[in-house]
Amino acid sequence: MYDILIIGTGPAGLSAAIYGARANLRVLAVGKDGGALQKAEKIDNYFGVTDSPGGTELWQRGVEQAQALGAEVKTAEITGVEYTGGYTVHTTAGSFEGKTLVFAMGNARKKPDIRDIEKYEGRGVSYCAVCDAFFFRGKNVAVLGNGNYALHEAEFLKNVAASVTVLTNGKPSEGIEDFEVIGDRISHLSGEDSLGAVHFESGSSLELDGLFVAEGFAGASELANKLGVMSSGGFITVDDNGVTNLPGCFAAGDCIGGTLQVASAVSEGAKAALSAIKYVRTKK
Ligand SMILES: Cc1cc2nc3c(=O)[nH]c(=O)nc-3n(C[C@H](O)[C@H](O)[C@H](O)COP(=O)(O)OP(=O)(O)OC[C@H]3O[C@@H](n4cnc5c(N)ncnc54)[C@H](O)[C@@H]3O)c2cc1C
Repeated sequence: MYDILIIGTGPAGLSAAIYGARANLRVLAVGKDGGALQKAEKIDNYFGVTDSPGGTELWQRGVEQAQALGAEVKTAEITGVEYTGGYTVHTTAGSFEGKTLVFAMGNARKKPDIRDIEKYEGRGVSYCAVCDAFFFRGKNVAVLGNGNYALHEAEFLKNVAASVTVLTNGKPSEGIEDFEVIGDRISHLSGEDSLGAVHFESGSSLELDGLFVAEGFAGASELANKLGVMSSGGFITVDDNGVTNLPGCFAAGDCIGGTLQVASAVSEGAKAALSAIKYVRTKK
């Protein structure tokens, strides 16, 4: 059991890891890569860093710094999070438990480019199997996606729905063997008051009651929704100290909105870690 479990290893997550490790706590930060920072060609506006490193280089320095101070940093994709008294995070490298959880997953949420999808949001189209599966008991549903996150959502739904089909929308399916997979590109959705069918560019269609969007990777707001963490406009809601509405759950960086810069992510990561440290020490 980790004292502080951090999801995301960008500047916010690594900063939280550095503060947690320096407080002599057991810290794990899990992320799939260097997030938005890795995409920056060079960073010129961060205090004290005068050699204009590329985002990837600055990120690697942060990883090394966190590890040298005693934090564990793991590369894996996060597919689910549960409240289990503490927090359990499910990843492609196994599941991990923490007394506290820090969301530091950046802000990479994207909506699928499918005609009419907004029209059916909340009326058949869902972004969260854990939240909405109950409404589709005994019904026919599909998961939109092609990787680990889609598989995770499909596995959750199969215990509730009559049938679960995975729609990859033209992308190759990655390791989704236990479900019927349709690889055709989607052209549009249809239905009167709620979703009734998905239509493919090939001309065929599939009658459906529900479509669960799980394209790419699970984003911060999707996982926050699953846990019951409050968010607004796609950003996790926190107080001035990075505290969310759930006990022992904190958030920092681009996933809480604000200025969306390395400097703010680092500052918010520190604040969230200080709140987590206080929480762990109070509970001892
Ligand atoms: C092209 C570009 C240029 C930029 N230039 C600058 C600049 O010059 N100066 C500046 O201050 N800021 C710049 N920024 C913004 C800056 O990069 C971000 O504000 C900062 O990286 C946010 O840090 P973060 O830790 O909150 O999120 P991120 O850096 O996005 O890190 C998110 C972390 O979450 C992980 N993650 C997310 N989902 C999952 C999942 N399902 N499974 C596993 N891991 C997951 C990611 O792998 C990553 O580790 C730039 C951004 C971009 C895109």
